[in-house]
Amino acid sequence: MARGEGVRVYDDNGKEYIEGLSGLWCASLGFSEKRLVEAARRQLDLLPYYHTFRGRSTPVVAELAERLIDLAPVPMSKVFFAGSGSEANDTAIKLVWYYQEARGYPNKRKIISRKNAYHGVTIATASLTGLPINHKNFGIPLPGFIHASCPFPYKNARPGETEEAYATRLAQELDDLVTREGADTIGAFIAEPIMGAGGVIVPPQGYFEKIQAVLHKHDILAIADEVICGFGRTGNMFGSETVGYRPDILTAAKAISSGYQPISAVMISDGIYQVIADKSAEIGTFGHGFTYSAHPVCAAVALETLKIYEEMDIVSVVRAKAPLFFEGLNALRDHPMVAEVRGAGLIAAVELARDTKNRVPFEASEAVPAYLIERAQEYGLIMRPIGDAIVLCPPLVISSEDIKEIHTRLGRALDDTYNMVRERGLL
Ligand code: PLP
Repeated sequence: MARGEGVRVYDDNGKEYIEGLSGLWCASLGFSEKRLVEAARRQLDLLPYYHTFRGRSTPVVAELAERLIDLAPVPMSKVFFAGSGSEANDTAIKLVWYYQEARGYPNKRKIISRKNAYHGVTIATASLTGLPINHKNFGIPLPGFIHASCPFPYKNARPGETEEAYATRLAQELDDLVTREGADTIGAFIAEPIMGAGGVIVPPQGYFEKIQAVLHKHDILAIADEVICGFGRTGNMFGSETVGYRPDILTAAKAISSGYQPISAVMISDGIYQVIADKSAEIGTFGHGFTYSAHPVCAAVALETLKIYEEMDIVSVVRAKAPLFFEGLNALRDHPMVAEVRGAGLIAAVELARDTKNRVPFEASEAVPAYLIERAQEYGLIMRPIGDAIVLCPPLVISSEDIKEIHTRLGRALDDTYNMVRERGLL
């Protein structure tokens, strides 16, 4: 890709594409927001680098931390900055371990994640990730990382099971898992409010409420991975609000800077902070931090991004656009290959199937979603195939005209795919 303008990117032949995935779910303000360029330039002039070790910080970083604490979906107290979603989640794991050890529970170290989760690719966060492709041949997951069932109504709810009943069953499964492993060995549970890279999977009604009752019962910390869901994407400032999750630790990245600079954040509650602060005072220091943690240029761009979200009232913008976005996608449900449309705000998945009524997928080897993505690319729409679905996560600044343009280009690609499938006798 050679350049960007609004929600569009242009390749080195000059071909135009609507970026239907905001790059990697991150460029919420599109690809040419000059205020972010200026914010970076100003900070580069003023102080291009400094760190947050040895009790130091910079005004821009302090301001960003305060802004995030103001926005947090539950009362949070302190923010640790890092350079990526993986580093943020890696840090969250270490904070859990440190906290549990400091309060006298050194064995509470196991972390429960979920199948289909995506939390990153460092050694520890790839272990949290619940996708086989990130484990295969790496000797991952490491011991101590456990994967519970993921809430995937389309694939895993039983015939006739209500959302409530499905959520109750998943909570019971989690309770059983904790009991089997031993609650005294489990430190935390981590979840994306709506799973992104697993296929934009929306939990059933009541899921997080029931899951959290299990976590409370067993004294297990709740971590929300808001790396994709944060900053308006799902129609609330954080996905946790959309699904009724009240985390003790929250990680964010991507849209925090609209992807213009690499920066992530870990927010922690005051209860966790106090335990960690007391322990580190006792043992000398808190031995964690990266050279580029709280990089002032990244922080300046993130702060400007948050200012723009505030001025735009990003949550209202997303809520205003979501009905049109889903109206056009839901219209595809009449298509003989579309089995389900799901999502929230401006993130969605369109699930394809050979037999939509009985939810029978195409064979993986037939690569039907990949073919659709290729056709869409021909028509100038970038999306991504995940399993049997194709996913969309356009920049939040997308206009109504461009939302309709996504529908048109996607519809044409779907028709081409249907023709291919029929020609090859795959239906
Ligand atoms: N968590 C979630 C939910 C993500 O979607 C991602 C990346 O897509 C990550 C964590 C990892 O972020 P990064 O690629 O910045 O390390």
